[in-house]
Amino acid sequence: MIYPLCYFGNSVLREKAAPITNFDAELEKLGKDMISTMREEEGIGLAGPQIGKSLRIFTMEVPVDMDEDENGQPLNAGLESPLVVVNPEIEVVGDVEEEMEEGCLSIPEVRGKVIRPFAIKLRYQNVKGESKELELQGLAARCVQHETDHLNGVLFIDYLSSVKKMSIKGKLKRIKQNYG
Ligand SMILES: [Zn+2]
Repeated sequence: MIYPLCYFGNSVLREKAAPITNFDAELEKLGKDMISTMREEEGIGLAGPQIGKSLRIFTMEVPVDMDEDENGQPLNAGLESPLVVVNPEIEVVGDVEEEMEEGCLSIPEVRGKVIRPFAIKLRYQNVKGESKELELQGLAARCVQHETDHLNGVLFIDYLSSVKKMSIKGKLKRIKQNYG
């Protein structure tokens, strides 16, 4: 099934999502439905709170051609995609940071530059409850950070400069009115 999205202004987006403890058929179905919803909305990531589920789960599907270094080589060769991530824990690797423009399915038509660590280690569980570990770089690493932020009630607009925040105030107000 395709879930309706929750938009900026919905308090579920500001909650700290609960850890997942039941690795059952229902969770597997949720992962599948989140992938369908993410694809339907043409997103590269979708977190539980964005469909009103305050649970520590997100899905990710970064197009291969968006995930290359400057020589056209894949940054995250062999990465399972789409990926369902449960109970993520992030560790920053190295001290390289990168600035990139981000958007969010829950905040339509708003974009802004966010500085984030370039490389991370992701520890998580799959829908079967098996522990997994991945080293990620570039857009996939950024996506994991953006989605994990969602599980902690953090939105990418929180990182924007105060000047940029002022400039998107009207758009945010309209999202609240139209979708809230
Ligand atoms: Zn988002």
